[in-house]
Amino acid sequence: MTGSDARGAAADRAVRKFVFDFFLREGSAPVLEEIALGLGIGRQEAVRALGRLDTAHHLKLLPGSTRILMAFPFSAIPTPFRVTRPNEKRYFANCAWDAVAFHTMLGEPIWIHGFCRHCARPLRFSIVDGRPQSPDGPLPVLWFGLPAASWWHDIVRTCSETMVFFASAEHLAAWRTAGDPGGAELTVDQTLRISEPIYRRKLRLEYERPPPELLQMEFASAGLTGPFWNLTPRSRAAEGVPERARRHP
Ligand SMILES: [Zn+2]
Repeated sequence: MTGSDARGAAADRAVRKFVFDFFLREGSAPVLEEIALGLGIGRQEAVRALGRLDTAHHLKLLPGSTRILMAFPFSAIPTPFRVTRPNEKRYFANCAWDAVAFHTMLGEPIWIHGFCRHCARPLRFSIVDGRPQSPDGPLPVLWFGLPAASWWHDIVRTCSETMVFFASAEHLAAWRTAGDPGGAELTVDQTLRISEPIYRRKLRLEYERPPPELLQMEFASAGLTGPFWNLTPRSRAAEGVPERARRHP
Protein backbone atom coordinates (compact mmCIF):
# COMPACT_ATOMS: atom_id res chain seq x y z
CA MET A 1 0.00 0.00 0.00
CA THR A 2 1.38 3.42 -0.94
CA GLY A 3 1.30 6.45 1.35
CA SER A 4 -1.60 7.98 -0.54
CA ASP A 5 -3.50 4.66 -0.48
CA ALA A 6 -3.04 4.51 3.29
CA ARG A 7 -4.26 8.10 3.68
CA GLY A 8 -7.24 7.28 1.47
CA ALA A 9 -8.09 4.21 3.54
CA ALA A 10 -7.86 6.22 6.77
CA ALA A 11 -10.05 8.97 5.29
CA ASP A 12 -12.58 6.36 4.14
CA ARG A 13 -12.80 4.86 7.62
CA ALA A 14 -13.25 8.29 9.21
CA VAL A 15 -15.89 9.38 6.70
CA ARG A 16 -17.77 6.09 6.95
CA LYS A 17 -17.81 6.30 10.74
CA PHE A 18 -18.91 9.93 10.62
CA VAL A 19 -21.81 9.09 8.28
CA PHE A 20 -23.05 6.21 10.45
CA ASP A 21 -22.72 8.16 13.71
CA PHE A 22 -24.57 11.07 12.13
CA PHE A 23 -27.39 8.82 10.91
CA LEU A 24 -27.68 7.22 14.35
CA ARG A 25 -27.81 10.59 16.10
CA GLU A 26 -29.90 12.61 13.66
CA GLY A 27 -31.97 9.97 11.87
CA SER A 28 -30.89 11.44 8.53
CA ALA A 29 -27.80 11.57 6.34
CA PRO A 30 -25.12 14.25 6.66
CA VAL A 31 -24.53 16.49 3.66
CA LEU A 32 -21.09 16.84 2.15
CA GLU A 33 -20.38 20.13 3.93
CA GLU A 34 -21.18 18.60 7.33
CA ILE A 35 -18.78 15.73 6.62
CA ALA A 36 -15.97 18.08 5.56
CA LEU A 37 -16.52 20.44 8.50
CA GLY A 38 -17.02 17.65 11.00
CA LEU A 39 -13.78 15.93 10.06
CA GLY A 40 -11.75 19.03 9.20
CA ILE A 41 -11.09 17.85 5.65
CA GLY A 42 -11.44 19.55 2.29
CA ARG A 43 -14.50 19.29 0.12
CA GLN A 44 -12.70 17.33 -2.60
CA GLU A 45 -11.27 14.89 -0.08
CA ALA A 46 -14.79 14.26 1.23
CA VAL A 47 -16.09 13.83 -2.33
CA ARG A 48 -13.40 11.27 -3.14
CA ALA A 49 -13.98 9.34 0.10
CA LEU A 50 -17.74 9.18 -0.53
CA GLY A 51 -17.08 7.92 -4.06
CA ARG A 52 -14.81 5.16 -2.76
CA LEU A 53 -17.30 4.20 -0.04
CA ASP A 54 -20.02 3.95 -2.69
CA THR A 55 -17.80 1.74 -4.88
CA ALA A 56 -16.99 -0.48 -1.88
CA HIS A 57 -20.73 -0.86 -1.08
CA HIS A 58 -20.58 0.83 2.32
CA LEU A 59 -23.19 3.31 1.17
CA LYS A 60 -25.15 4.33 -1.94
CA LEU A 61 -25.09 7.86 -3.28
CA LEU A 62 -27.99 9.34 -5.16
CA PRO A 63 -26.77 8.77 -8.76
CA GLY A 64 -25.05 11.80 -10.24
CA SER A 65 -24.58 13.45 -6.86
CA THR A 66 -22.67 13.37 -3.58
CA ARG A 67 -25.91 13.03 -1.62
CA ILE A 68 -26.19 9.93 0.54
CA LEU A 69 -29.26 7.83 -0.23
CA MET A 70 -28.38 4.70 1.75
CA ALA A 71 -25.87 3.80 4.45
CA PHE A 72 -26.98 0.27 5.12
CA PRO A 73 -29.19 -0.21 7.13
CA PHE A 74 -30.08 3.53 7.23
CA SER A 75 -32.21 5.12 4.52
CA ALA A 76 -32.16 8.87 3.94
CA ILE A 77 -35.70 8.80 2.52
CA PRO A 78 -38.99 7.39 3.81
CA THR A 79 -39.53 3.67 3.21
CA PRO A 80 -42.12 1.07 4.34
CA PHE A 81 -39.57 -0.20 6.90
CA ARG A 82 -39.53 1.76 10.14
CA VAL A 83 -37.38 1.00 13.19
CA THR A 84 -37.85 2.44 16.69
CA ARG A 85 -35.32 2.21 19.51
CA PRO A 86 -35.98 2.16 23.26
CA ASN A 87 -34.92 5.84 23.39
CA GLU A 88 -37.75 6.47 20.88
CA LYS A 89 -35.42 7.51 18.08
CA ARG A 90 -36.86 6.34 14.75
CA TYR A 91 -35.21 5.42 11.48
CA PHE A 92 -36.13 4.29 8.01
CA ALA A 93 -34.44 1.08 6.85
CA ASN A 94 -33.70 0.41 3.18
CA CYS A 95 -35.43 -2.97 3.06
CA ALA A 96 -36.94 -5.66 5.26
CA TRP A 97 -33.49 -7.20 5.82
CA ASP A 98 -32.04 -3.85 6.89
CA ALA A 99 -34.95 -3.32 9.30
CA VAL A 100 -34.15 -6.61 11.05
CA ALA A 101 -30.41 -5.87 10.91
CA PHE A 102 -30.86 -2.76 13.05
CA HIS A 103 -31.13 -5.15 15.99
CA THR A 104 -27.83 -6.78 15.08
CA MET A 105 -26.10 -3.44 14.61
CA LEU A 106 -27.43 -1.78 17.76
CA GLY A 107 -27.49 -4.77 20.11
CA GLU A 108 -30.60 -3.45 21.82
CA PRO A 109 -34.36 -4.07 21.57
CA ILE A 110 -36.08 -2.60 18.52
CA TRP A 111 -39.60 -2.29 17.19
CA ILE A 112 -40.19 -2.75 13.48
CA HIS A 113 -43.20 -1.31 11.69
CA GLY A 114 -43.84 -2.31 8.10
CA PHE A 115 -46.49 -3.43 5.66
CA CYS A 116 -47.48 -6.66 3.97
CA ARG A 117 -46.43 -6.48 0.33
CA HIS A 118 -49.53 -8.47 -0.63
CA CYS A 119 -52.36 -6.64 1.14
CA ALA A 120 -50.67 -3.53 2.64
CA ARG A 121 -51.70 -4.61 6.14
CA PRO A 122 -49.61 -2.78 8.75
CA LEU A 123 -47.16 -5.11 10.50
CA ARG A 124 -45.35 -4.67 13.80
CA PHE A 125 -43.01 -6.82 15.79
CA SER A 126 -40.14 -6.44 18.19
CA ILE A 127 -36.74 -8.07 18.47
CA VAL A 128 -35.32 -8.41 21.97
CA ASP A 129 -32.07 -10.26 22.71
CA GLY A 130 -32.15 -11.91 19.31
CA ARG A 131 -35.74 -13.08 19.71
CA PRO A 132 -38.46 -11.72 17.43
CA GLN A 133 -41.88 -11.35 19.04
CA SER A 134 -45.20 -10.25 17.60
CA PRO A 135 -48.12 -8.97 19.70
CA ASP A 136 -50.46 -9.61 16.77
CA GLY A 137 -49.98 -13.34 16.21
CA PRO A 138 -47.58 -14.96 13.76
CA LEU A 139 -44.41 -13.14 12.80
CA PRO A 140 -44.13 -11.73 9.29
CA VAL A 141 -41.93 -13.52 6.75
CA LEU A 142 -39.41 -11.95 4.41
CA TRP A 143 -39.24 -12.45 0.67
CA PHE A 144 -36.00 -11.98 -1.29
CA GLY A 145 -36.82 -11.74 -4.98
CA LEU A 146 -33.37 -11.77 -6.57
CA PRO A 147 -30.52 -14.31 -6.41
CA ALA A 148 -27.74 -13.22 -4.04
CA ALA A 149 -25.20 -12.83 -6.84
CA SER A 150 -27.27 -10.09 -8.48
CA TRP A 151 -28.20 -7.96 -5.46
CA TRP A 152 -25.63 -5.30 -6.29
CA HIS A 153 -26.47 -4.99 -9.98
CA ASP A 154 -29.04 -2.37 -8.94
CA ILE A 155 -29.05 -2.07 -5.18
CA VAL A 156 -31.75 0.60 -5.08
CA ARG A 157 -34.20 -1.68 -6.90
CA THR A 158 -33.03 -4.73 -4.94
CA CYS A 159 -33.73 -3.05 -1.60
CA SER A 160 -36.88 -1.24 -2.65
CA GLU A 161 -38.68 -3.98 -4.57
CA THR A 162 -37.23 -7.37 -3.73
CA MET A 163 -36.49 -7.54 0.02
CA VAL A 164 -39.87 -7.04 1.62
CA PHE A 165 -42.24 -8.26 4.34
CA PHE A 166 -45.36 -10.37 4.05
CA ALA A 167 -47.86 -10.78 6.89
CA SER A 168 -47.38 -14.56 6.75
CA ALA A 169 -46.32 -17.42 4.50
CA GLU A 170 -49.95 -17.62 3.37
CA HIS A 171 -49.95 -13.99 2.24
CA LEU A 172 -46.70 -14.60 0.37
CA ALA A 173 -48.16 -17.72 -1.26
CA ALA A 174 -51.28 -15.81 -2.33
CA TRP A 175 -49.16 -13.03 -3.81
CA ARG A 176 -46.97 -15.54 -5.64
CA THR A 177 -50.01 -17.26 -7.13
CA ALA A 178 -51.11 -13.94 -8.57
CA GLY A 179 -47.76 -13.08 -10.12
CA ASP A 180 -44.05 -13.79 -9.81
CA PRO A 181 -43.46 -17.23 -8.26
CA GLY A 182 -39.70 -16.75 -7.88
CA GLY A 183 -37.50 -15.70 -5.00
CA ALA A 184 -36.95 -17.10 -1.53
CA GLU A 185 -38.89 -16.99 1.74
CA LEU A 186 -37.01 -16.30 4.99
CA THR A 187 -38.00 -16.22 8.62
CA VAL A 188 -37.02 -13.29 10.82
CA ASP A 189 -34.71 -15.70 12.68
CA GLN A 190 -32.88 -16.63 9.47
CA THR A 191 -32.57 -12.96 8.61
CA LEU A 192 -31.05 -12.22 12.01
CA ARG A 193 -28.56 -14.99 11.43
CA ILE A 194 -27.32 -13.73 8.07
CA SER A 195 -27.15 -10.18 9.44
CA GLU A 196 -24.33 -11.10 11.83
CA PRO A 197 -21.26 -10.86 9.57
CA ILE A 198 -22.41 -7.71 7.79
CA TYR A 199 -24.02 -5.64 10.54
CA ARG A 200 -22.61 -6.61 13.94
CA ARG A 201 -19.64 -4.24 13.85
CA LYS A 202 -21.11 -1.56 11.59
CA LEU A 203 -20.73 1.25 14.10
CA ARG A 204 -17.06 0.61 14.79
CA LEU A 205 -14.35 2.66 13.12
CA GLU A 206 -12.46 -0.43 11.96
CA TYR A 207 -15.50 -2.09 10.34
CA GLU A 208 -14.86 -3.92 7.08
CA ARG A 209 -17.32 -5.70 4.86
CA PRO A 210 -17.09 -9.47 5.27
CA PRO A 211 -15.60 -11.54 2.45
CA PRO A 212 -18.23 -13.43 0.40
CA GLU A 213 -16.90 -16.75 1.68
CA LEU A 214 -17.83 -15.80 5.25
CA LEU A 215 -21.27 -14.61 4.24
CA GLN A 216 -21.77 -17.76 2.22
CA MET A 217 -21.02 -19.85 5.32
CA GLU A 218 -23.54 -17.82 7.31
CA PHE A 219 -26.17 -18.39 4.62
CA ALA A 220 -25.49 -22.14 4.81
CA SER A 221 -25.70 -22.18 8.61
CA ALA A 222 -29.11 -20.51 8.32
CA GLY A 223 -30.21 -23.24 5.91
CA LEU A 224 -29.96 -20.97 2.86
CA THR A 225 -28.21 -23.04 0.22
CA GLY A 226 -28.50 -23.71 -3.50
CA PRO A 227 -27.94 -21.58 -6.61
CA PHE A 228 -30.21 -18.76 -5.39
CA TRP A 229 -27.88 -18.09 -2.44
CA ASN A 230 -24.62 -18.56 -4.31
CA LEU A 231 -22.67 -15.29 -4.07
CA THR A 232 -19.99 -16.21 -6.58
CA PRO A 233 -21.38 -18.61 -9.18
CA ARG A 234 -18.73 -19.67 -11.69
CA SER A 235 -20.82 -18.54 -14.61
CA ARG A 236 -20.55 -14.92 -13.50
CA ALA A 237 -16.94 -14.64 -14.62
CA ALA A 238 -18.08 -15.74 -18.07
CA GLU A 239 -20.81 -13.09 -17.96
CA GLY A 240 -18.13 -10.44 -17.61
CA VAL A 241 -19.18 -9.30 -14.13
CA PRO A 242 -16.46 -6.95 -12.85
CA GLU A 243 -14.14 -8.29 -10.18
CA ARG A 244 -15.22 -5.54 -7.81
CA ALA A 245 -18.87 -6.60 -7.99
CA ARG A 246 -17.93 -10.20 -7.30
CA ARG A 247 -15.83 -9.32 -4.29
CA HIS A 248 -18.56 -7.41 -2.46
CA PRO A 249 -21.78 -9.34 -1.97
ZN1 LIG B 1 -51.00 -9.51 3.34
